[in-house]
Amino acid sequence: RFADIQQAPPIEVFHVMKAFADSTHEKKVNLSVGAYRTDEAKPWVLPVVRKVEAELAADMTLNHEYLPILGLESFSTAAAKMLLGASHPAIAEGRMTAVQVLSGTGGLRIAAEFLHRILKYNTFYFSTPTWGNHRLIFTQAGFTDVRQYRYWDGKTKGLDFDGMIEDLQNAPENSVVILHSCAHNPTGVDPTQDQWKKIADVVEERKLFPLFDSAYQGFASGDLDKDAWAVRLFAERGFEMIATQSFSKNFGLYNERVGNLMIVVKDPSVIVPMRSQITLLVRGSYSNPPSHGARIVSRVLNDEALFGEWKECIKIMSGRIIEMRKGLQERLEKLGTPGTWNHITAQIGMFSFTGLSAEQSKYLAEKYHIYLLSSGRINMCGLTTGNIDYVAEAINDAVCN
Ligand code: PMP
Repeated sequence: RFADIQQAPPIEVFHVMKAFADSTHEKKVNLSVGAYRTDEAKPWVLPVVRKVEAELAADMTLNHEYLPILGLESFSTAAAKMLLGASHPAIAEGRMTAVQVLSGTGGLRIAAEFLHRILKYNTFYFSTPTWGNHRLIFTQAGFTDVRQYRYWDGKTKGLDFDGMIEDLQNAPENSVVILHSCAHNPTGVDPTQDQWKKIADVVEERKLFPLFDSAYQGFASGDLDKDAWAVRLFAERGFEMIATQSFSKNFGLYNERVGNLMIVVKDPSVIVPMRSQITLLVRGSYSNPPSHGARIVSRVLNDEALFGEWKECIKIMSGRIIEMRKGLQERLEKLGTPGTWNHITAQIGMFSFTGLSAEQSKYLAEKYHIYLLSSGRINMCGLTTGNIDYVAEAINDAVCN
């Protein structure tokens, strides 16, 4: 009954965003939500996106008819090629299929439902820590055996590789393992290529099912191929695997919900029945995906000139983040802030896992109106040349205090 409904816990990142929005402090800084900001601390509509949007608006042949249940094929095929590499044998051999989904989150949800209901998996692993939504998505899709593998080592402020391997070695067969394909959220720490090879060995030995969450391709290093390295390694080694792709960050299309679900299998004959099952999962949840964002991405990925313009945008975004990393580390070191700060530039992607405690983040919010998550994760894009001194001095104060 309605009267019996318990209050659910708030989603922290939206809670922190609201605190920022409500603050009237003139120097307030938002380091919470994972969204790109320009050096003026403004959201950025990529110029190539604006251009394609104008073309779409002027194109009188387009309409608002439903897309097919599995979405726009020109989009999903191009997206899969971007992740696997256009010449990947799985594509030529017909062992890959891709489906347009509701961004990264919706892709994970359909993947989880497919794995649980159709393939009967019930155990899933995620890294400690991970993006806050992984647990929720998989449990809501029906998984009941929730497990974690070690990832972050607070002492070295890097990867706990031995812990990760040990936990995966002890995983029961047929566990699904969620892996971040690059720019791990929230730590910004990725395995090295050698470490990825060892992870692949364990996944193979233990008969685990790899699921790659790809939310930052191109955004991490500015190089689409480099950021897809781990996914391609697994695909080349012949794993059956799933990858979900988000175009929120690398295209700045957050609210358009543009995503792709890509599945690589060993036997091409399973693809038709598999797609028919995914069709039912989608039909019973949202029926079919929206078209605007997928049309934009499809046009850009399928046109050499637009693709080139987009790659420049990615470089601008990732480059600005790298500059902010350097700037923050330099300032903290100059201020003599206790502790080591080289992890800020060693980490990649949108976030830095600063090592700041929940108390210190609270202190930053209360005294300086600088808003970050209680885990100490900061969105590097929230830093600008205009506020970086203020933030560094505030962090110095929080650490010394
Ligand atoms: N996975 C990870 C690791 C993420 O950080 C995000 C975005 N915060 C997503 C998936 C999905 O985001 P979206 O649903 O906007 O594509």
